[in-house]
Amino acid sequence: MGLQIKNITLPNIDQIYPSLYSILKRCPYEALLAKAFQKPLLPYSPNAHLGNVVHECIRLILTNRIRTINAFQNEWDVLIKREEKTLRNNGFEFLIPIKRNVKEYSIKKMQVQAMLTKSSKPLPSVGKGKVDFNHEVWLHSRDGLIVGKADLIKKSDTETKISDFKSGHIFDGDNIKQEYKDQLFLYAYLYNEDQGSPPDVLSVVDLEKKEFVIEFSMEECYATANEAIRLLAEVNLHAMNDHREKLAMPSKSNCQYCSYKPACSYFWRLESDEDDLFLNIRGELLSFREFINGNLTAKLQCEGKEVLIGGIKGLLKEKFTGAVGKNVELFNLKRCEDSTRFNVINTTMLFEASKI
Ligand code: SF4
Repeated sequence: MGLQIKNITLPNIDQIYPSLYSILKRCPYEALLAKAFQKPLLPYSPNAHLGNVVHECIRLILTNRIRTINAFQNEWDVLIKREEKTLRNNGFEFLIPIKRNVKEYSIKKMQVQAMLTKSSKPLPSVGKGKVDFNHEVWLHSRDGLIVGKADLIKKSDTETKISDFKSGHIFDGDNIKQEYKDQLFLYAYLYNEDQGSPPDVLSVVDLEKKEFVIEFSMEECYATANEAIRLLAEVNLHAMNDHREKLAMPSKSNCQYCSYKPACSYFWRLESDEDDLFLNIRGELLSFREFINGNLTAKLQCEGKEVLIGGIKGLLKEKFTGAVGKNVELFNLKRCEDSTRFNVINTTMLFEASKI
């Protein structure tokens, strides 16, 4: 049987944290579906899981908690196992081991390990006198509506600096991404609320250990926090009234990596892009055949034409067999040169659709 998505009641979001604010600005419906389902419906790319490991190792190296190659190897193995456990718990065992499913796994690991030698130079210091380093500090607003865990807070007699570590691209054109600025503004707001005084410096630090200072004023930080609280109230009101069409913001960039597409009908309103190598299709599953040579092929009635799906194997075979005659949605297929043929890949998933 293909997976079936149950109808869900939209939940209430009680608290906002900096990265959630970025999701709410992009597509509130995604944030609500994530809260409702508690786990992704489509697998993140194994690269994203490796990215979590990379981010955590960088944080530990930059804060001098990993100092030797041995310590790095041990921590790396522990973190990879943690990501693989998450994949298993979410039903995505087919992406384990991560090592075999990520291109250039060893090169990426070596790049992070190489930071151990770069890390002999500490991050630029702050102020004068004794410096306190506080890692992963939880901060709360007085009204309890905004919370966040800052990667690093450095405090000297004369200066307080909040830094966030980023493993991806920091710039959008010539400017630091607005998403990252918003997150740091919220940390500054939270620090002021929690500690009773504002920070002096905000920065993001990249994989190369380069630090980029973000200019800010506390007025700007409070304006961002007020906007976050306003957005939270608006989203909860729409969720309570089940106004899903006001919450969903389908667009190519918003939906591309969204793991909740199987529960979102708005996504299907987007035109598919002829240039995309990987894509999602839906239609009636007309037949499923096994050929003498062992090849498994499914035929789908899709937008008025018949298309063939090849390369089916493993657990998907059972799902295709149980779904013949039903409306299905297929995610993460690879396009072939012939526009009526597609191949499954290791992240392809099949869901039964209630209506199309
Ligand atoms: S698929 Fe697109 S519109 Fe639907 S929840 Fe995800 S990001 Fe939002």
